Amino acid sequence: MKLSLGFPLAVLPVSIFLGAFTASAASVATAGGGTGRDSLVNCLRSSLSSASSVYLPGDSGFANDTIRWNRYYQPTFTVVAAVANEHDVRVSIICATSSKTPFLVTGPRHGFSSGWQSLTDGLEIYTGAFNQVVVDAAASTMTIGGAVPMKDVGDALQPYGKNFPVAGASCVGMVGASLGAGIGRLQGLYGLMHDSLISARLMLPNTQVIEVSQRSNPELFWGLRGAGFNFGVVLNATYRVYDAPAQGTNFNADFEFPLSSVRAFYQAMHDQIANGGLPAPLCVATGLQFNRTINATTLKANAVYAGSEAEGRRAVQFLTNIGTDLRHNFTQIPWNRLNRNVNFLNNNPLVDQCTPGGVRGDTYGVAFNTINVDAHVNMSYQFDAMFTKYPEMRSSGNGGYFCANQAVASKPAHYTSYPWREAVGHQTWGFVYPAGSNTTEADIDNIPKKLRALIAATADTRGLNTYIGFSHGDESAETIWSGEHLNRLRALKRQYDPKGLFSWYHPIPLR
Ligand SMILES: Cc1cc2nc3c(=O)[nH]c(=O)nc-3n(C[C@H](O)[C@H](O)[C@H](O)COP(=O)(O)OP(=O)(O)OC[C@H]3O[C@@H](n4cnc5c(N)ncnc54)[C@H](O)[C@@H]3O)c2cc1C
Repeated sequence: MKLSLGFPLAVLPVSIFLGAFTASAASVATAGGGTGRDSLVNCLRSSLSSASSVYLPGDSGFANDTIRWNRYYQPTFTVVAAVANEHDVRVSIICATSSKTPFLVTGPRHGFSSGWQSLTDGLEIYTGAFNQVVVDAAASTMTIGGAVPMKDVGDALQPYGKNFPVAGASCVGMVGASLGAGIGRLQGLYGLMHDSLISARLMLPNTQVIEVSQRSNPELFWGLRGAGFNFGVVLNATYRVYDAPAQGTNFNADFEFPLSSVRAFYQAMHDQIANGGLPAPLCVATGLQFNRTINATTLKANAVYAGSEAEGRRAVQFLTNIGTDLRHNFTQIPWNRLNRNVNFLNNNPLVDQCTPGGVRGDTYGVAFNTINVDAHVNMSYQFDAMFTKYPEMRSSGNGGYFCANQAVASKPAHYTSYPWREAVGHQTWGFVYPAGSNTTEADIDNIPKKLRALIAATADTRGLNTYIGFSHGDESAETIWSGEHLNRLRALKRQYDPKGLFSWYHPIPLR
């Protein structure tokens, strides 16, 4: 993957940001009224820029650009347009629509949604070339291409002494996450990723390019931040960035607890949050998994504090006090090297190598406004029982995101179309079925939906609340966007995507 990190604005290369080419429906050799793959391919090959590529099944580029982090429920394509610039994106949309081919825009390919498999024989518009990060340190902003992964943001900001609330996964798309919300470390200080979004350069479904910001198309700006997969292609986006504390380092504390300690752990988390909340610079992430070395289920807890070691040790004292961990490890880490080090990873560079793995994992998630200790303990023991009864499921895991939420909750409830700002955490599950197995949810006693229901019922919310990025795909629109936001979103969808072209990934239902 070609990278260009940290270019000063003045020397921006031939640029995805400026749209070096233009195309209109009239200038594109459309599919000539024909439908089907041949007319699509002819249209693309005669109109795309020379920097782009068209791949067909069997080409190595096709396999490279379509493999997903998660191949469960994945869509299938017969053609890939690996686009190089704005012109190519426009051409691809025009060729797809004129040949009546369903299409999906993709970037780092970490998205997941059950139901996606209904997209068959489609065109993938792969935007991996939109990978620039341009930092304007004086203005405390960065402009990134629509397919930039988290790790590139970290690497670009670190030399400038800046940081940003990135996710705890290096290879997830920054814009892809922001279009849903962007839950990450530092959100207690700076809010959701999309709370820092200043503006986006958006190609609408009709291929017109507009700026979307608080000043320009403000209603669309509201909808883009929460339901942003519905309105076109974000070519690039400009975000606010922040001065990094502690010379760009963070305190990292890893704990591994035996299953018998989960009650003490969740009680400690509950009490800390109920009595004043986590300190704003702190984020705790958990992982309950089967530890094959000791042949037992354990709970890993990773706590990252954006500040000095002394402050960090004080902030995690409530976890240290539990005192029953099997092991722990405290280190002070450069901010952009956290993901290589968390969870006892000991500076493992493989973490930052973004080669989508093709796991077969079924994802679920629930947002909660309180930690119900009994429910979390019950959930943990049910997960452990699953490992015993169905050993083939032992690559599965469940993870909790307990990042401080002061800056998230301080924004008005309707600030963006993401509705769950009061959540103190998100519980997620990844049910990983072995390669080649035909095991289904029904075969494992529908544990996934039962565990989701268990946490949702005790979450101090009005029914199931789900963050779109952690959702399964079977949730109602109200559980994703709330009933209060739906009509506004429907109006936007009717206005900007009346033909429903961008409706394969978490579409806003029109009724
Ligand atoms: C291992 C893992 C860890 C995760 N961790 C976090 C986390 O810590 N915090 C968090 O908030 N989320 C997290 N997520 C969820 C993640 O935010 C979503 O899956 C997100 O959709 C991934 O975006 P992507 O660009 O990587 O994926 P892709 O599969 O490339 O994109 C998914 C879809 O989003 C849309 N899309 C992507 N980019 C654009 C664009 N530029 N313009 C218009 N539409 C676009 C397209 O419809 C695309 O098909 C995680 C997911 C995984 C698999």
